Order: sequence, then structure tokens, then C-alpha cells
Amino acid sequence: ASEAGERLVPSGFVQEILLDHVITFAPDPRLPRALPARPTPRPLPSGDALPVTRLSASAYEDLRRCPYRFFALRQLRLQAPDELESELGKRDFGNWLHSLLKIFHDMLKTAAAQDIPARVAIINIAAERATQELALSESEFLPFAAIWPRVRKGYLAWLAEHEATGAVFDAGEVWREIPLGPLTLVGKIDRMDRQSDGHALLIDYKTESRSTTAERIKSGQEDTQLAFYAALIEDDTLAAAYVNLGEKEPTKTYAQPDIVGLRDELIEGIRDDMARLEQGAPLPALGEGKACDYCAARGLCRKDFWN
Ligand code: SF4
Repeated sequence: ASEAGERLVPSGFVQEILLDHVITFAPDPRLPRALPARPTPRPLPSGDALPVTRLSASAYEDLRRCPYRFFALRQLRLQAPDELESELGKRDFGNWLHSLLKIFHDMLKTAAAQDIPARVAIINIAAERATQELALSESEFLPFAAIWPRVRKGYLAWLAEHEATGAVFDAGEVWREIPLGPLTLVGKIDRMDRQSDGHALLIDYKTESRSTTAERIKSGQEDTQLAFYAALIEDDTLAAAYVNLGEKEPTKTYAQPDIVGLRDELIEGIRDDMARLEQGAPLPALGEGKACDYCAARGLCRKDFWN
């Protein structure tokens, strides 16, 4: 090095010796070499020091899919910061549809429009209002504007059929909180209808593929969403269904049979899980497949470094 501490190339004499391999630096850090594998152990925390007082359907779903995810995202409340994104995603389209359907049905209550052209006019006003409420610009919204006429047509046709069964819209986006021991179950129900027999019908809108919605119904206890919403309403005569708002295919109802039985089993499950959590049961990182593909806690559980 120079007097000022600047690194210099080795002198010609040193370079000559190096070229003759008289001096070797071992090991040369530039050469590949074997290192012992040191996989990261799977995390195994317990969450008893972080009492759970409020539980939503999505939080409980996290616990069922992967206890560690629940610990990280719900108990420690670690969340990825929202990015400023200029492009709208499928989720934005779903939010927009949810908002506009609430506005549309609230308007329809007083407008009493029965024929399709009148309903198209009202639903278009609702769509504009929802766009304003969510502050979506016209250019951002362009890809959805192309799909909208098809979704609208499918939805209005479904609505006519649904009403022909005697069902009537009651309320949209209903926030509910209900105590369950020391816990409060919370959630927003997409829609409540009244059926011809006077019983309530709980509806959850879905903008996913039809096969995903059909799978939810088939899997019974595995799917906790409708059962959780049913738990927010104290009604033993309640019916529940997903309504798939198709982009390519028409809107379709997927009724969940025996929702009251599923609700009761779910409540039992929640009580058990919360009791175990309080007793300090370990919360392992158990996720698999899709659960891990879209998990915000993947960098925390270090799943990619276990093996
Ligand atoms: S990446 Fe998978 S294992 Fe890790 S926290 Fe998420 S769901 Fe659990």
C-alpha cells in the first residue's frame, strides 16, 4: 500500500514469484470448494405471550394452513408494506365489484326497476360511483372496462333467476362482531338475502375460477369461510352460498349444504385451537404448496433454507 493507505499492485518482483507459483495462497478464495451444509432449522415458536382477542375468517384460515404464518402475521402483526402500484390487479377488480354491487342493490331497493334496460342503467351508475369511491383512474381501469359488460350481463341474468325463487336482497357489506368466550369473532359479510320461506341466506361473492369455488363446497370442513360468516349470525335456520361472479362464464350460485352443522364444528375447532394456543402449544411452519406460494411470511420462516 502507498503511504496514504491506497492499495497498489504487487511489485514486479512479487508478480514474478507469483507467476512461478513459488508462493501459493491456500485456499484460493476464488476457487469453488465444498462447504458443510448448514440448513436453517424450522421455526417452532409458541404464541401464549401474545393473547388473541379478535379473530377474522382470514386470520383463522392462516392458523389452519400454517400455525407459524398465524404467529408471524397475526400475533406478531408483521405485515409487508403496501407498495405503490400503478397497475390494477384481480384483487382490485374484486373490490370494485363488491362495492358496486352493494351500491347497486341499495339503489335498487328504492328504484324498484324490474326490466333489464332499467337495471343496466342503474348498475352502470353504481359502477361509476364505485370507481370514484375507490379512486380508480379511467386508464387504470381500461382492462376491467373491457370485461365489465360481460360480467354485468351474467350478473343481471343470475339476479333475475335468483329473485324468481322468491329471494330478496336484504343488506350488503354487513360488519359483524360476536363474542366467543374471551374472543371476538369479526368479519364483513358480503350480502344477506331473505328467502321465500323467510329464512336468511348468507352470500359470499367470489371472482375466482369456477372450479376453485366448486372445490370450496366439496371440501366441506376444509373451507372455513362461509362457516365462519355463519358463526357471526346467530341463526340456526340460515342458508349460505358462494356466488361466483364469472368473467368468462355466467354468474353461478354454489350453495353450501348443512351450513349450520359446519358452523358448529368450526366453532368447536376455534375453541380448541385457541385453548391450545393459550397453553403454549408450538406453532410450527407447516405450509405446503399453494399456501407457501403466496405467503407473506416466507422470508421469515426461511422455508427455502430448511434443506
Ligand atoms: S411459507 Fe409456508 S411454511 Fe412458511 S410461513 Fe408461509 S405458509 Fe408457513
